[in-house]
Formats: sequence, C-alpha cells, structure tokens
Amino acid sequence: MTRELAIRLRGAVKRYGPITAVDGLDLDVPMGTCVGLLGPNGAGKSTTMRLLTAQAIADEGEIEVLGFRLPGESKMARAQCGVTPQLDNLDTTLTVQQNLLVFAHLYRIGRADRKAAIERALELALLTDRRDTRIDKLSGGMRRRLLIARALIHGPRLVLLDEPTVGLDPQVRQGIWALIDKLRSEGTTILMSTHYIEEAQRLADTVLIMSHGEAVAVGPPPELVREHAGREALEVYGPPARLVEVEVEAQASGLRTRRTGTSVSILGTDGHRFGIDGERRPANLEDVFVLLTGEEIH
Ligand code: ATP
Repeated sequence: MTRELAIRLRGAVKRYGPITAVDGLDLDVPMGTCVGLLGPNGAGKSTTMRLLTAQAIADEGEIEVLGFRLPGESKMARAQCGVTPQLDNLDTTLTVQQNLLVFAHLYRIGRADRKAAIERALELALLTDRRDTRIDKLSGGMRRRLLIARALIHGPRLVLLDEPTVGLDPQVRQGIWALIDKLRSEGTTILMSTHYIEEAQRLADTVLIMSHGEAVAVGPPPELVREHAGREALEVYGPPARLVEVEVEAQASGLRTRRTGTSVSILGTDGHRFGIDGERRPANLEDVFVLLTGEEIH
C-alpha cells in the first residue's frame, strides 16, 4: 500500500518570461517523511516552494498539498501547513511572545488553546526565558529558531522550510538541525529546500536533486550515493599540473573524476587497485551532486 502523500506534483512548470524556473517537475512527499530539495543557486527550489504555498501559480501541471488541489484550494491547504520563509519576516518591534501571539490569532487558534500553543513554541525554539525580549535583541540563531517555531504554532501536518539555515554560522546551523530532527522524530512531514549538501544528507529521508528546474535524481541519500558515485573515492592531492595528469589517467581507465578544490577525487574506485597514491574515502552525496549538476559547492 502506498503511503498517503502530503505533497504531489506532476509535470509542474513555472515560467518567468523566457526563463523556465520549474520545468516539468514531479515530486512526492509521503506523510511522516522529510524530503530535501537540493540544488545550486537558480535551480528552482524557491520557485517550487512558492508553487506549494500558491504564492506562484504553475503554468502547467498538477499540484496537490494535503489532498487539496492548488491553486483552487490553496486556502484550505495553507491553513494546515507551516511555512518558514527564507527571509526573516519577524516583527522586530514586538517581543518573542507577541510575535507568536500574532500568529496564534492568524491561524485562528482558539482562546483556550492559545497559551499552551505559545508555550510549546517557546520550548521548541528554546526561547522560554526570552519570551519578553524584543526581536531586534535576539541573535541570528534565536531568530531562525523562532521563525521555525512560529510556523508550527497551529500544529500543522506539513512544514515547508525554505533554506532553513542559510547564512548561519556552523554552530548555529547545528542547533537548527537538532530542531528539525526533533520535528522529524515526532512524525512531522517536512519539505525543506537547501543548497547545503550536509544538511540534506543528515536530515532528509529522501533527497531530490534539482538542476535547471528539473529533477536529476531522487532517492534516499545512501542509495543515491551508491547508484551514482559507488562506494569509495580516491582523493589525490598535489600541485595543479599533477592533478591534471591524475584526471587524464583516471579517465583513461574509465573512471570519473571531480575537482574538490585543492584535490581531485576519482570516483567509483571500489576495489580497484590503482597505481595512484591518495586517500581512500567513502563516496558521499557531494560527489553525486557535482556529478549530476556539474556544480562545485562553495
Ligand atoms: P536560490 O538558492 O538562489 O534561491 P533557487 O534554486 O531557489 O535558487 P529560484 O529562486 O527558484 O532558484 O530561481 C529559478 C530561476 O527562476 C532563476 O533563474 C531565477 O532567476 C528565476 N526566477 C525566480 N523568480 C523569478 C521572478 N519572480 N521573476 C523572474 N525570474 C525569476
């Protein structure tokens, strides 16, 4: 039996004049799973998220969110979704608690349940002792946690997180990951866009790699790695001229290579006896990403 789908996209197309931002995209998000939309800048991730909130209207294709057809039934879908925008739109003149209260009203949480909903959100954001702090006095990480907790105030069945950790320091990012992981373990359905490979690898049950508006691969991260990059890579360091030689040599043996800044990675060296010195390492999702999108991550 197939699991109920929280999101179902079939052949979704969104054009902006001559640009096709989303180009025939199929996407399934089963209830209770976390799906990561991974792609380089301009791949169409944000546009996909905007289609799902009906902020953008598809030119072609079918879109269903929680069983509601978009754009016609978008109001019903939106009432049961939590959305975290890429840009922080908290009201900086209000306190933490006041921001949550505004959303509790917006989502029509009854008077009797409002207090508990706000307490839950404060706890989730680890901001219980900051409830009376004004937003402009919070750190970037606290603001981002609040932004996510605010989206959860009405107990949505589905959460859409657009680049949840963009622009944050690594330590702060890990705090957000812990929060998302908690939601996941509680069974909240999540669709998250990201251009951080590690984020997708750690959090998503299924990753959809997007490039130029299309899905170039979809599956659980370990499966994608095995399918596209094999089990093992050989990472070779050396001066630039040596790296070029290594690339030529590996490619002559039918193996694929990718540059990794100061090194070259030879992919799919599983079990190969190779006359080149280097560090053997497990293949990873970044290898897959670069192979499929041609983009290096910075
Ligand atoms: P980023 O991580 O940079 O946000 P993305 O994967 O989210 O990238 P989109 O923002 O969806 O990509 O953009 C996909 C393409 O559509 C880009 O070429 C972008 O310039 C274009 N695009 C997006 N929104 C608009 C718009 N409102 N008007 C015109 N072009 C747009």
